[in-house]
Amino acid sequence: MAVLEARNLYKSYGTVKALDDVSIEIEDAELLAVIGPSGSGKTTLLRSIAGFVQLDSGKIFIKSKDITELPPEKRNVAMFFQNYALWPHMTVFENVAYGLKIKKCDRKEIKERVDWALEFLDIKSLAERKPNQLSGGQQQRVALARAIVVQPDVLLLDEPLSNLDAKIRMRIRFELKALQKKLKIPTLYVTHDQEEALSIADRIAIMHNGKVLQVGTPQEVYRSPANLFVADFIGVNSVVTVPRTGEGPLRVGNLRIDTSQQAVRVVIRAEEAKVLPIEREMLVQEGDLKLEGTIVGKLYMGFKYRYEIMVKDIQEPLFINSEESFEPKQSVQILVRKGSFFVYE
Ligand code: ADP
Ligand code: MG
Repeated sequence: MAVLEARNLYKSYGTVKALDDVSIEIEDAELLAVIGPSGSGKTTLLRSIAGFVQLDSGKIFIKSKDITELPPEKRNVAMFFQNYALWPHMTVFENVAYGLKIKKCDRKEIKERVDWALEFLDIKSLAERKPNQLSGGQQQRVALARAIVVQPDVLLLDEPLSNLDAKIRMRIRFELKALQKKLKIPTLYVTHDQEEALSIADRIAIMHNGKVLQVGTPQEVYRSPANLFVADFIGVNSVVTVPRTGEGPLRVGNLRIDTSQQAVRVVIRAEEAKVLPIEREMLVQEGDLKLEGTIVGKLYMGFKYRYEIMVKDIQEPLFINSEESFEPKQSVQILVRKGSFFVYE
């Protein structure tokens, strides 16, 4: 049974539909990542679950109890903000204890629970420090300790890693995932970073213009995207328009597409496509896409190159990585296996 259930949520700001019939569920111990571009409604969804947004309509249940009308402090959810702010004048211990004091827990319980949270996050040795004596990563853990110390039914994280530099972010991804599995608190995790979502989520919800376009496991949304937007948003892709040329069916490379449209959009998983010399023999299986083109640009990227390739009858270039070295003006063939490209009308 779902611990959190949001049913048909609507919220408009003037003419902007921030939430447009959003329904999601989170199971026990599950991490649901909500992804989407800026302005798609992710923060509004989170804030409405936390109780900071007055919905136009819809219902929210936690453990089957309708909490739609409850004020934030009665919901037992913890929210971890985009710009987590620790109180600068309080020590780490006091910062983490704050939520429990508000709840009027007694001193002994506060001490026990704060100690537990600090130990859990491996920051007990920092208890007496002030925030300005901590690194970014340490501050992050303190903020997380502050969120989990109240033992919420649901943990809401809004782009928790966006303030950290790329290297720390990579490492903390692993930690966060391990931590969430150990804590077993159902978690809604908002990010605009699809790679982050793919790597840490049990399931992913993709939002766009206030709507949830698809919910599924990372494998499902990556392998079977529901539409062009999802296909393009997830993964590293090259997206091109292929027009109808001449009589007969619309052709994309070696494939015939059954459509009455004058053009189709093709999403190619750029990291799965192969670039090969034009003369090389290759095995093309049923449903594979084979294109022929010319290298027009080449970027060195360490162990691989990124190529800009023009393909006959397609006006936009394809961008595809390869470990093999080609030179500009060279003719190449591009092989994309079935399942690594998607065609949309
Ligand atoms: P995200 O977190 O995905 O970037 P938001 O939920 O913050 O998106 O915003 C969704 C849309 O609602 C945006 O167009 C945003 O400008 C608008 N919006 C959000 N909060 C408010 C508000 N308090 N007042 C007016 N417009 C808002
Ligand atoms: Mg946001």
